[in-house]
Amino acid sequence: MTSADPIANLATLIRCPSVTPAEGGALTALAAMLEPLGFTVERMVAREPGMPDIENLYARIGTDGPHLMFAGHTDVVPVGDEAAWTHDPFGAEIAGGEMFGRGAVDMKGGIACFVAAVARHIGKHGPPKGSVSFLITGDEEGPAVNGTIKLLEWAAARGERWDACLVGEPTNPDQLGDMIKIGRRGSVSGTVTVHGVQGHAAYPHLADNAVRGIVALTDALMDPPFDAGTENFQPSNLEVTTIDIGNRATNVVPGKATASFNIRFNDTWTAETVMAEIVRRLDAAAADERLRPGRSPVRYDIAWAERPSHVFLTRNNQLIASLSGAVEAVTGRAPKLSTTGGTSDARFIKDYCPVVEFGLVGQTMHMVDERVAVADLETLTSIYETFIERWFDNARS
Ligand SMILES: [Zn+2]
Repeated sequence: MTSADPIANLATLIRCPSVTPAEGGALTALAAMLEPLGFTVERMVAREPGMPDIENLYARIGTDGPHLMFAGHTDVVPVGDEAAWTHDPFGAEIAGGEMFGRGAVDMKGGIACFVAAVARHIGKHGPPKGSVSFLITGDEEGPAVNGTIKLLEWAAARGERWDACLVGEPTNPDQLGDMIKIGRRGSVSGTVTVHGVQGHAAYPHLADNAVRGIVALTDALMDPPFDAGTENFQPSNLEVTTIDIGNRATNVVPGKATASFNIRFNDTWTAETVMAEIVRRLDAAAADERLRPGRSPVRYDIAWAERPSHVFLTRNNQLIASLSGAVEAVTGRAPKLSTTGGTSDARFIKDYCPVVEFGLVGQTMHMVDERVAVADLETLTSIYETFIERWFDNARS
């Protein structure tokens, strides 16, 4: 059973050039690893007008519960400056105890290890006492429209139900065993446009300088802090990401200014309440006359980027304890339970079942010379194998 070897699995997957939206042979290669183990593998193509079709994969072994899902993606970000790589980004070359290649840690490595862990589990104990499935998308690094969301809807419509999910994204900052993600902050983005009146810098009373308005509004977004953090989350944080006026003439008062922002918010808020708070701050700042004495309120509008990401926290102790116990049993280190970092596809999965995330060390993800310590692949496979055993034992008891 070659799929019990995570190093061989990963080399096979890295050699498939699956830069989003290309399938690159990666899902076919994954299917070839899973079918001999007894998985029923299905390919689901998701379509959306104006976007490339995306291939996704769903594979399941077993027909009964409890049902454990492993989720991830085989697509990878572009190579970037190929000349700067010291090894072929699709070559899976090993040097100095590390395997090089795009996707090595984000996240073909996680998939390679989970396949190996399941293969070893089946080799020792026979088919799982319940079901294991792989929910693998080819659209995580891209727009994520034809990926996990649609794959979940498709599978659920066919009657698939899951009791828990492990996402294999790289979660460890420095060493394997550092960190499990048990939730994620929410994210909302928007663009504020201030409408003033263009004019001559020497005759400001005839104009309405949009700079004064945008400064007042962005200041109100940045201060005071939204909250001080909660038990499981760091403080919410808003960053103004650009202010655009585009005026090159020093004797012209600009009539229009825009600013964009993104807020990462904790469980003090929902996407709806944090958006309401932002509007409340903007309205208060617009009415404040400090920067615009004697003026009527700043005229502005706000456009929200579509699809906010909702904050979530997983409270399934059995799932968290099974994973955290497996990490500690194999590495001797108690992982931090964290909600830091960006969003992931776990934000979609949480609507179907409790979800946690644990994978490789993320340091080189998306970089030139993305690479993984070969020893980490063995260790992660042992962690996943121990997790599978513990999760089924706990779920059945
Ligand atoms: Zn990823």
